[in-house]
Amino acid sequence: MNPFSYTRATDPQQATQATATNASAKFLAGGTNLIDLMKMGVERPTQLVDVNRLSLAQIEELPNGCGVRIGALARNSDVAQHPLIVQRYPVLSQALLAGASPQLRNLATTGGNLLQRTRCYYFYDPAFPQCNKRNPGSGCGALNGFNRIHAILGQSEQCIATNPSDMNVALAALDAVVQVQSAKGTRSIPIADFHRLPGDTPNVDTNLQADELITAVDLPAIPFATRSHYLKVRDRASYAFALVSVAVALDVQNGRINAARVALGGVAHKAWRAQKAEAALVGKTAGEKAFRAAAETELAAAKGYKHNSFKIELAKRAMVRALSTVAQMT
Ligand code: SF4
Repeated sequence: MNPFSYTRATDPQQATQATATNASAKFLAGGTNLIDLMKMGVERPTQLVDVNRLSLAQIEELPNGCGVRIGALARNSDVAQHPLIVQRYPVLSQALLAGASPQLRNLATTGGNLLQRTRCYYFYDPAFPQCNKRNPGSGCGALNGFNRIHAILGQSEQCIATNPSDMNVALAALDAVVQVQSAKGTRSIPIADFHRLPGDTPNVDTNLQADELITAVDLPAIPFATRSHYLKVRDRASYAFALVSVAVALDVQNGRINAARVALGGVAHKAWRAQKAEAALVGKTAGEKAFRAAAETELAAAKGYKHNSFKIELAKRAMVRALSTVAQMT
């Protein structure tokens, strides 16, 4: 392991001051991903700024019925079990409970979950020379290697990795907004703009600047989000990342779809908001015919590789099943 210094921040200004003056400093919250990556030699920060003592763990209603704010340090298990989330955004509660193990959920934070890095095998093992994400310009080992867990949408010739987070898929469907702070001030980043597709710079996962601290995630008020669901398809029943997942919320009146939110996980470098499917669903009669047509529309541009082409049909079927589940809710 590389040597690094450790600082415990007592307020956000102090935390962001540290990262503003050291480009290779990292914030430490739950550490459930960062510490693993440091042990493997993939992440090599020269300074860890421990933000666990900051007062950023509240889950509370926003004023004027505008939604709910989740503090960046709210633990995944606390968010999943909070009455405001369970009652108003069940898709988020279900997504969080589908992730990792109870022990990891007790430690992992909302901000850290947003910043989870891909589980691509080649990225995790520095013994593999080819990985544009870990070592820009070195090539992509997965492209012609073992690529069963890799992307089918939005990928590039530089990287076909997927975002591993379940939470991010629900946040994409809910149009969450990420609140951040730096020494320069604060800003809000819509979740659709937070994570990046790989393009020519797959080493850059997000549009967050190195000195910016995530302080909260805001969920807008979406009355029909009470009718929502998260479906995760994986190799084993627990403690496994999604091969494909689907977050769905539907507004159905008298059998007609007024509004739809659909996002896919396990298929792209970021949670994939299925906007083509959403547009195809609005105005249709809720039922398998409309759901299958929407899934076909969304996956029309999908491209599989040697080991992951099965994901294309799997994603379609998962979408139909998740949409059917929500449509049957009363
Ligand atoms: Fe690296 Fe991305 Fe290729 Fe995986 S898919 S080896 S993370 S460049």
